[in-house]
Amino acid sequence: MRIGVLALQGAFVEHIAILNQLKVEALPVRLPQELVGLDGLVIPGGESTTINKLMLDYNLMCEIRNLAKNGLPIFGTCAGMILLANKVSGLDMDSIGVMNMTVRRNAFGRQKDSFENELSMPVLGEKPFLGIFIRAPVIEWTSSEVEVLARLADGTGVAARQGRLLVSAFHPELTNDLRFHEYFLDIGRGY
Ligand code: GLN
Repeated sequence: MRIGVLALQGAFVEHIAILNQLKVEALPVRLPQELVGLDGLVIPGGESTTINKLMLDYNLMCEIRNLAKNGLPIFGTCAGMILLANKVSGLDMDSIGVMNMTVRRNAFGRQKDSFENELSMPVLGEKPFLGIFIRAPVIEWTSSEVEVLARLADGTGVAARQGRLLVSAFHPELTNDLRFHEYFLDIGRGY
């Protein structure tokens, strides 16, 4: 499998390292031609406004949107989740916008800007998954085609899937737990 990792800004190195641990060819993507022939794409966390602007500058935005619409598996973490949502509170820019949900940027107050939380995530098995939240967004609303995969104790959605599109508000690439990335690869394999 060849998985591209959008490498414009943010935590792309960590995603590449996890994918390599899973014996997958992981390629940094900075140019439109590097999107050709991929079996999946990861959009990492970082600063969504910066990544969005660079995607436009590098002519990647339309291409990624088309690939998503044509069924390319895409995994967006944190800023990546923001860029995949078709409605975002706090982002006044045209983004990829292919997941039918509303996301709010920087949803946690100052003292909780960063925190960790053990999340129950049935699709990954019984063992909880450690959610590392860094100035994280939340999912405020989803359409019926979006399945929420993990919630905080108060019910707030923090991970979701719509067909082959997968998102988390937290950073699985900063844990040693490979299950979330494995789940993404399984989506690419057609499970
Ligand atoms: N707060 C960032 C944003 O709005 C996202 C943070 C992250 O990706 N860790 O883009």
